[in-house]
Amino acid sequence: MIGVTVLGSTGSIGASTLGVLSRHPQRFRVVALTANRDLDGLYRQCLAHRPAYAVMSDPTSAAELARRLERQVPQIRVLAGSEALEQVAALDEVDYVMAAIVGAAGLLPALAAVRAGKRLLLANKEALVVSGRLFIETAERCGASILPIDSEHNALFQCMPPALPSGLDGAGVRRILLTASGGPFRTWPAERLAEVTPEQACAHPNWDMGRKISVDSATMMNKGLEVIEACWLFHTVPERVDVVLHPQSVIHSMVEYADGSVLAQLGNPDMRTPIAHALAWPDRIESGVPSLDLFAVARLDFERPDPERFPCLALSYEAIRRAGDSPAVLSAANEVAVEAFLEGRLGFTGIPAVIEQTLARLAPGAANTLDEVLAADREARALARAIIAESTANRHSC
Ligand code: NAD
Ligand code: MG
Repeated sequence: MIGVTVLGSTGSIGASTLGVLSRHPQRFRVVALTANRDLDGLYRQCLAHRPAYAVMSDPTSAAELARRLERQVPQIRVLAGSEALEQVAALDEVDYVMAAIVGAAGLLPALAAVRAGKRLLLANKEALVVSGRLFIETAERCGASILPIDSEHNALFQCMPPALPSGLDGAGVRRILLTASGGPFRTWPAERLAEVTPEQACAHPNWDMGRKISVDSATMMNKGLEVIEACWLFHTVPERVDVVLHPQSVIHSMVEYADGSVLAQLGNPDMRTPIAHALAWPDRIESGVPSLDLFAVARLDFERPDPERFPCLALSYEAIRRAGDSPAVLSAANEVAVEAFLEGRLGFTGIPAVIEQTLARLAPGAANTLDEVLAADREARALARAIIAESTANRHSC
């Protein structure tokens, strides 16, 4: 039996992961489930999946969860706080860790899994974006394998040769074609974007996802973070990663080889496919995803992204070219700006503006050590918050 910890089990990826795991009870055993503060959600999951451990970051919620479980399943150990997340990511009885916490909050537990040499199923792209080289080098040193869950990177992994010992050139790969749906505002004129509401931004045309990644898809910051993610996962440079708008979300990404061949992975837009792929690799298992109906899809369209309407994409290319702590600053400023947007404190077009100003006002630094990464994250958050507060104060004084 393969022991699995699901970090962020109450979220969209977490729930899909448990859906796939529960189809294969002879193969997988759920060792630990974790949530931030969704008490009811984690309680229900504990009753259904009977993990050995349940972790809640919020101590008050953890105490209430322990009280409720005491009566029903007293054998589940309930732990609280961020250190407990690291603990359940590194347990001996755990073989695979699904990293499905959203944002940089997932970095330390994902790194703990990597340090313990686990198979890491990486959905939490921000963890890799903020710590880049440190994350990849730690995985190599500790013998951890990283299997991408992000649908695009999972598609690339499936289309790539089995090993990339000397980067893309050694494998005969010319470039990576990262597909993007374009989000809900792909065809909207620039002047309407300022009025976008959180509800509109979270209504993705093809994917059902958490609120943060839904807003990232709407600004195309999600694709920017994915360009950075692809550079680290496939040992390449941003010049070799091209973004192609593909509104049907049927081709999940493509790899172009030196001989002109282009390999693509296709499927319904359902995260259970990449999750099942990474859980079973190199085997294949049932995921619950229905067959792709190509007659219903009928056509596949491709467009160039518009850098004017989606400045987050260009900001991401700039951040990964600058390297050092710039991707960490970009991602932290984005997290703060998205939160402010969702809370109604910042307009939709304010998101790229805050990120751009944060990158411009912070002197670039190194991000070779965990301390440097965490310091960059802290500084960028503080500055982004100050920039949002300044813009609110200016709006009110006019
Ligand atoms: P979500 O918001 O639905 O779920 C997030 C999970 O993380 C929840 O279980 C929540 O309790 C937990 N969490 C949130 N903040 C936390 C904190 N501070 N400490 C500990 N736990 C915390 O998000 P999601 O859509 O499932 O996305 C999760 C990750 O996967 C993100 O990094 C996202 O970019 C990536 N991803 C998601 C999808 C998708 O289809 N949803 C696709 C590709 C990649
Ligand atoms: Mg993706």
